[in-house]
Formats: sequence, structure tokens, C-alpha cells
Amino acid sequence: MAEIKLLDSSTIDKIAAGEVVERPSSVVKELVENAMDAGAKAVTVEIRDGGCSFIRVTDNGGGIEKEQVRKAFFRHATSKIRSVEDLYRVRSLGFRGEALSSIAAVSMVELITKTKEELTGVHYRLEGEKERDFSEVGAPEGTTIIVRELFFNTPVRKKFLKSPATEGSYISDLMEHMALSRPDVAFQFMMNGQVRFHTSGNGDLKEIVYRIYGREIVKELIPFSVKEEGIEVEGFLGSPSVVRSNRNFEFFFVNGRYIKSPLLSKGLEAGYKAYLMQHKFHFALLHIN
Ligand code: ADP
Ligand code: MG
Repeated sequence: MAEIKLLDSSTIDKIAAGEVVERPSSVVKELVENAMDAGAKAVTVEIRDGGCSFIRVTDNGGGIEKEQVRKAFFRHATSKIRSVEDLYRVRSLGFRGEALSSIAAVSMVELITKTKEELTGVHYRLEGEKERDFSEVGAPEGTTIIVRELFFNTPVRKKFLKSPATEGSYISDLMEHMALSRPDVAFQFMMNGQVRFHTSGNGDLKEIVYRIYGREIVKELIPFSVKEEGIEVEGFLGSPSVVRSNRNFEFFFVNGRYIKSPLLSKGLEAGYKAYLMQHKFHFALLHIN
């Protein structure tokens, strides 16, 4: 029989990281969710090479206290829950405490953060989990995280990435969904040095549709809202003239999270049935709370 051995901690970390960080868009998702959990009202995301070489997420949220910074990168380290019971009332997007540790295990990470209470911030730098810098810096309130050279130490994972253009398009989709999920947060998304879109954070969902999808779509939107049995649905339906040959224009958000749901798609398409051409899909943007 083959001998049974315990894996060393670096191998364990890399395997665990693979569960959370599959591709650059997973990094962006985790970092933006952290920004929102930190109460940010403005989030800027900048990527290069589809996020493979560079991802920067800046927020104006609460920041991380100096003495907590190292801990934030431990596995299963979270400020969002304390016990299993908390899972039933958790309102944050994250709670597993796995994102930062996973990202740090497979990339070079830089963090600058400052809380309102502290006079100075911290600059913290890790290279594949090894600490390279921990120093005091002047910084605005909030957090900036830079992730460089994703999967530099896990070449097999890197090999499975698609082209930078494709990885970038995944991030672009993700950012659009993030912006549509939180009209009250100002998002800016930059790709290869160019601003792709920005939203004002004034709470106007229609304005976000305008900024991302343009005037042609916005003028075909019909406001929609129902409230029944503790469920509230609010958003916009496209007039039957707006059609796509795929479901990319069906946006569903449940309690602020973007989801894909065959059930909801079916319901929507049943409602449009009288207008539906075969293999065509309508625009719908619905927040279900
Ligand atoms: P989780 O989000 O599941 O708690 P993470 O690994 O994503 O786990 O983050 C660990 C902890 O680091 C968070 O619980 C939070 O306290 C802190 N943190 C991470 N990102 C930010 C941020 N942008 N602003 C403030 N605190 C943050
Ligand atoms: Mg998180």
C-alpha cells in the first residue's frame, strides 16, 4: 500500500486557494464584495491583461485596523461572523474568511488601508504568503488592494486561464452586475488604462443601465414593481422590441446578489410569451428582495 502522508501547509494552502480563486474574475468578485461589506460608497476597479498581471481595487470603506491587517490574511479569519448561529442572520456578502488568504497564496498582494480612527495607515506586502513589507503610511480612509501575477506559483492553474481578452470580458460582466446590484455605490471600472464605465452612486438604477448599455436600451425600459407575501420585485422590463439571441440581458438580483436562475428565466419568458420569437430573449432587470 502507498504510504499516507500529511501535506505540508504550503501545498494545503494552494489547494484551498484553488477552491476560491479559479480565475481573475474570482479575485475581483471577492475584493469588490469585501469593499461593499466594508460599507464603501465608492469602489474603483482597475485591471490589466484581463486581470492576470494586475488587479487593483480601491474603496472608501471602513478600512482595517493596523493590528488586524496580518490577521485578515489568515485562513478562516473573518470579522463578519462569530459562530454557526450567525449564519442565519448574516447580511454581508462574505463570511468564510477565505478570500484574502486564498488570493495571497497564489499571487503577490499589496494592501494599503486606513481606518477613520487611526492617524496613519498601513502598507502591507506579501509574495505568495511571505511577508515583504509592513510599514506605516499616509493614506486616505479606506482600502486599496493590488493583486499582481496571479498564479505565478501555480503554473498549472495559470495554464488553464483563457486569453487576457476573455478573462477581461468575464471581469467586465462581473463589474456590470456589481454596479447594477448596488445603485447606491459609485463604481468605476478601468481596463488597460481606459475607463470602461462609471456610475454615480445616486441610487438611480436607470442611470446605470444608461451608462453601461446606452440610450437605445434605456428608452425601451418599462418600470416594474410588485410586492406580495413578503417578496418585493422591482426593476425594469424591456419593451418587446429589445431582443437578444441569448440570456445576457436577463438580470436577476436576490437580496442584492446577482444570480442566474433557470426558474426565474422561465417565469420571465412565460410572461413575454405573447411577444416572444423563437430563440430570442428580452431585457429584464429585476431586484428581488
Ligand atoms: P470574509 O469576507 O469572508 O470575512 P476575507 O478573506 O474576504 O473574508 O476578508 C477577511 C477580513 O478582512 C474581513 O472579514 C474584513 O474584516 C477584512 N477586510 C477585507 N477586505 C476589506 C476591505 N476592503 N475593507 C475593510 N476590511 C476588509
Ligand atoms: Mg470576503
